[in-house]
Amino acid sequence: MTVAAPRSSPSASPDVIVVGGGIVGTSAAAFLAGAGARVLLVERDALASAASGANSGVVQHPFDPVLARLYRESLVRYRELAASTNAFTIGDEPAGMLYASPDEAAARRQAAMIAGPFPELRPEVLGGDALRAVEPAAAPDLWACRVPIGYPVAPGSGTYAFATLAEARGVVVRVGRAAALEVVGDGVVGVRVDGRVVPAGAVIAAAGPWTPELLDPTGRWTPIAPLWGVVVEAELAAPPRHVLEETGIEAALDGGGEAKPLEALGEATGEASRGGAAADGDAIEFSFIPQPGAGSVGSTFLPSEPRPEAWIERILVRAMRFVPSMGDAPIRGVRCCPRPQSVDGRPLIGAVPWLRNAFVCAGHGPWGVSTGPASGRLIADLVLGRDPAIPAELDPARFA
Ligand SMILES: Cc1cc2nc3c(=O)[nH]c(=O)nc-3n(C[C@H](O)[C@H](O)[C@H](O)COP(=O)(O)OP(=O)(O)OC[C@H]3O[C@@H](n4cnc5c(N)ncnc54)[C@H](O)[C@@H]3O)c2cc1C
Repeated sequence: MTVAAPRSSPSASPDVIVVGGGIVGTSAAAFLAGAGARVLLVERDALASAASGANSGVVQHPFDPVLARLYRESLVRYRELAASTNAFTIGDEPAGMLYASPDEAAARRQAAMIAGPFPELRPEVLGGDALRAVEPAAAPDLWACRVPIGYPVAPGSGTYAFATLAEARGVVVRVGRAAALEVVGDGVVGVRVDGRVVPAGAVIAAAGPWTPELLDPTGRWTPIAPLWGVVVEAELAAPPRHVLEETGIEAALDGGGEAKPLEALGEATGEASRGGAAADGDAIEFSFIPQPGAGSVGSTFLPSEPRPEAWIERILVRAMRFVPSMGDAPIRGVRCCPRPQSVDGRPLIGAVPWLRNAFVCAGHGPWGVSTGPASGRLIADLVLGRDPAIPAELDPARFA
């Protein structure tokens, strides 16, 4: 559908309501308003109050050809944002990623997995003195696959900067809960926000893991579910220079387009039980992202909401296996939020198959910071009737 031409009266109803003030919703709102659409952004808590504010904070290559396109465009969008505001910064050069393991074969497998589809990334395998020379903080017996990618960004900063840009372009941001879509016949005509219907020409559901409940109140349509992550903020005296990850996280999480039951994704990351009561280390995959002040040490992959403080020590014990100085680092905080994990590991970007004027942009799992701005641009162009050539693999109709 094409949204109506922008109207002049400030009291007129919006052309588009965007539900969700994360990286996806704020960037979509900014791109829509940049094209002249009248936009209302509805966020029930605060901007970046979920994963978009509490993530680990790295813009990172997803090693999936479909998502890689979104990542490359997002990098360009972030650079444009950084050039236009002091509130968001991203490095010109990547920090570099080290996929680490005590097992040399695991590091070599990781390198082969990357070099196959992405030879231009030239992964190299390092161990012993060669690894220590580039990363003195790494444990002495580790092996690592090193790739020149990984741009640390302050968690939440991209979302806030896109929200600021959106407001400067005329987007109205409203704190309120979108309780339900207002449907007439087979089309959406507005959104019920805090008990009152706000009419609109189109609605974009960008509500992260809560998107299915907004689009299908019957609860039958569940292509996206929460996968909870806990991240510890640790202030190391000599932090790693690289972004560090345990080998195999991508392989475990990436559906690569294959539909998997969401429970299987939890199991694939080692999760053995529900409710945050897994055995130590079972549900944790180590990662470290250098940040000014305290770095992000992660992370859990849990299908139900954990008590974050119960995971701090387990995460640090796991991290010490890779970075021994982690044991002495003062803890500055802990963050906890759900990844919007889709069944096949790829986001849903496009029209809602059963509802006219309704669009969805959600399900980015562990990649939303890295791919969210491009997704926001794609969905904005679709709503504006611009034929953005969204890859068929991301069409929400695959779950219709
Ligand atoms: C621990 C952790 C670490 C991560 N690290 C990284 C990383 O380093 N790099 C990376 O690329 N990705 C990372 N991710 C993934 C990334 O954070 C997410 O994919 C991304 O933030 C999702 O953005 P979103 O806008 O789709 O959803 P969200 O950030 O979940 O935003 C959705 C918003 O919708 C609002 N909302 C929901 N329902 C309603 C309603 N009915 N009415 C109004 N508002 C509503 C919510 O309050 C929320 O603010 C990480 C995720 C986790 C959990």
